[in-house]
Amino acid sequence: MAQLNLIGRTPEEIGSLVAPLVDRPFRARQVAHWITLRRACTFAEMSDLPKELRRVLDQHFSLAEPEVAARTASRDGSHKYLFRLDDGASVEAVAMPEDGKLTLCLSSQTGCAVGCTFCVTGALGAGRNLAAAEIVGQYRVMARERGPGAERINLVFMGMGEPLLNRVELGRALDVLTQCISPRRITVSTAGILPGIRWLGARPRRPKLAVSLNAPDQVRREHIMPITKRYPLVELMAELRRFPLERGRRITFEYVLIRDFNDSVEDARAVAHLLRGIPSKVNAIPLNEDPVWLPGLSEPESATVEAFGRALRDAGLTVTVRRSKGRDVAAACGQLKGQHQLAERKTADH
Ligand code: SF4
Repeated sequence: MAQLNLIGRTPEEIGSLVAPLVDRPFRARQVAHWITLRRACTFAEMSDLPKELRRVLDQHFSLAEPEVAARTASRDGSHKYLFRLDDGASVEAVAMPEDGKLTLCLSSQTGCAVGCTFCVTGALGAGRNLAAAEIVGQYRVMARERGPGAERINLVFMGMGEPLLNRVELGRALDVLTQCISPRRITVSTAGILPGIRWLGARPRRPKLAVSLNAPDQVRREHIMPITKRYPLVELMAELRRFPLERGRRITFEYVLIRDFNDSVEDARAVAHLLRGIPSKVNAIPLNEDPVWLPGLSEPESATVEAFGRALRDAGLTVTVRRSKGRDVAAACGQLKGQHQLAERKTADH
C-alpha cells in the first residue's frame, strides 16, 4: 500500500490524518508541529512521541521530499539545486545568503508555457504543475542544508514556471509555508496573469506581489512576453492599481535589461511614467546571457545599466540594480536544467 505523504499539508490536515492512530488528541498536534515547524524528515526523530507510535506512523505515512540531483556552489555564496521529482521531471531552486538572511527561490512548474524570450525556462518549453509537497519540499531541503531558522528565511517564487498558473497547489503550499514564514517575507512573481493577480489579492494572508515588466509599452512587451497579447499591459496596470496593498507594502517590478532593446534612459522614464501612482520598487536585472538557449540577446554595458537606474531614481522610484546571483553556476531561471538537458542529449547522441 502506497504511503500517504504528509509533506505539503497544513497542520490541520496532518492532525486529522494522524488522529485515528493516536491515543490522545495532543499527539496529532505534536506530529504536525514536528513536520511543519521543526522540518522533521523522519518519524524516528520525533523524540517526544512514544516509540510505538513512531513505528505505526512510519508504516502509514511518508515524509517524501524531492531528491537533490545536483547541487552547485557559486563564488558569491549562493547554491543552486536541481531537484529530481518522482516522475523523473526536474526543477531548479536557488539558496542565496545575504546579510545574515537566506532567500530561497522556488519553482512552481517543471517548465513554462508563458514563453518569455529572455528566459531559459521559457525556451525549454511547457511543463507540469508542481504539487504542494514538491514546492514545500524545495524549501525544506534547502532550509535544512543551509541552516537558518525560518525567522531568517525569505521565499521568492521566481524559479521555474509561472506560479499564478498553478494556483491550486501554490495556494496549498502558501497555506503550509505561512505557518512558519510571515507572508511579508514571501514574494510571488508573475508575468502578469490577471486572474491570478485577482486570486492573490483575495487571499486572506497575502504574500508580496512582484510583476515581471521588462518593457514600458505593449508592442515591445508583447515581443518578448507573448502572454501580453492575452493580458495587455493597459489591463495589467489597471489591475495592479486595484491590488489591495497592506500599509507599507509595495509592488516590485522586475525589469530584465536587454542591450539595445529596453535599456535606454527614455525607456527608464517611460517606466517611471507607467508606474505613477502605484507604490512600487523596481528591480533592474541585466540579462544573464546564455548563447545556447538565448542566442542573439546580450546584457547592456555597465554604464548603460547605471544610467537606466539613475533615470528611474531621478524620477522618484526606489530601484535596485543588480546582477542575478550565482552567474558562475547558471543560476538564472532554467539554466542549470538546460545544461543538464544538453548533457543528457549529448550522451544519448553518442
Ligand atoms: S520568465 Fe517566468 S513566466 Fe516567463 S518564461 Fe520564464 S519562468 Fe515562464
